[in-house]
Amino acid sequence: MRTDVAFESARALYQNIVLTRHWNATHGKVYVPVSDHTLPNPYLADIPERDVHIDADTQLTMINPAYMTRQLSELAQLDTGVNFHITSLNPLRPENAPDSWEIEALQRFENGMNEVGEFFARDDGQTRFRYMAPLITEQACLACHGQQGYQQGDIRGGISVTLPHVTPIPLIGLISSHLAIAAAGSVLVISLGRMFHRSHEVLRHQAIVDSLTNIPNRRFFNAQIIEEYRRTLREQQPLSLAIIDIDHFKQFNDHFGHQAGDHCLVKIAQLLSQLTRRGGDFCARYGGEEFVIVLPNTTLQGAVLIAEKIRQAVEQAEIHHPDSDTGVITISIGVATRHTDITDEDDLLRQADKALYRAKAAGRNRVEIY
Ligand code: GH3
Ligand code: MG
Ligand code: MG
Repeated sequence: MRTDVAFESARALYQNIVLTRHWNATHGKVYVPVSDHTLPNPYLADIPERDVHIDADTQLTMINPAYMTRQLSELAQLDTGVNFHITSLNPLRPENAPDSWEIEALQRFENGMNEVGEFFARDDGQTRFRYMAPLITEQACLACHGQQGYQQGDIRGGISVTLPHVTPIPLIGLISSHLAIAAAGSVLVISLGRMFHRSHEVLRHQAIVDSLTNIPNRRFFNAQIIEEYRRTLREQQPLSLAIIDIDHFKQFNDHFGHQAGDHCLVKIAQLLSQLTRRGGDFCARYGGEEFVIVLPNTTLQGAVLIAEKIRQAVEQAEIHHPDSDTGVITISIGVATRHTDITDEDDLLRQADKALYRAKAAGRNRVEIY
């Protein structure tokens, strides 16, 4: 419990007691039935009307503020564990004598302080909060305390309120625990955010990148070629496209196995990727052992030069292929560049494919144009 909350709680209880006492004092004479629990108050023995007999079964006795407070204190102790203690430096009842903490508090009240409260640790390890505020003499108090020399308005003593077991939370601890919770929350939100961002990135990557060769896939190509076709048309720039197909790749697979075939595909994809680094150029795996290269702002002559460079690079990679004419893996490339007869990107692709077919027919390991 925070110190200020403990203070508020104890102060409210104290004020309640004062209010109840005030209610009792205002009536002057409050009677309740005599019972085992409420016997006539010996401290009021001098008052002739202390006890009233209603009938043979019912006897009433006067309850003054002090007696009422004692009864309330016992009830509170039983019901909630809260303890009230009326005390004074000059008590009439010996049970109302102050303990050392109360003596110190009462002395402070004499010096003008109007309340005290603090946590204290008990021997059993539990922590209590103790509060105390002064008790002001009312008219009703003078019936008993008048002979002690008190006058109305005097500080006659005090009421201490002890809250049951509470754990003090210093404000600094509270602030740091709130900060810690806030920090933990932020870390969680940031980590989750990063996680989702990463997951999203992974999904996006998977959607557009070929899982074997790690270069863009056909889906990416299909979307991108539309963009490039429109853009180069708008900017009145040339657009070239090359389709690449590995020669006699079925035999390579048959000879070395599918895994070796996969390695070969990865190697060729790396070469294509390295050779299409100019701004706007890109390669993609079109499917199986076929790749495409998109060359925006590139004329037919430029595209043929790049295609030829790629063809040579693959040949020079010298991937052993016993069933090929050259003894190594080679590729055939068909190149097409947009011209006035071409109506859309599919048209361009068809023409590049026709050029590739011609390259195959002409003996493979070559570049043909449409
Ligand atoms: P051509 O010179 O006429 O292109 O002959 P080819 O054998 O390359 O052509 P074909 O279309 O007959 O065979 C293509 C082969 O490519 C079939 C398959 O064994 C191989 N292939 C396609 N995709 C993959 C792949 O993902 N991994 C591997 N290892 N092989 C593949
Ligand atoms: Mg093929
Ligand atoms: Mg092939």
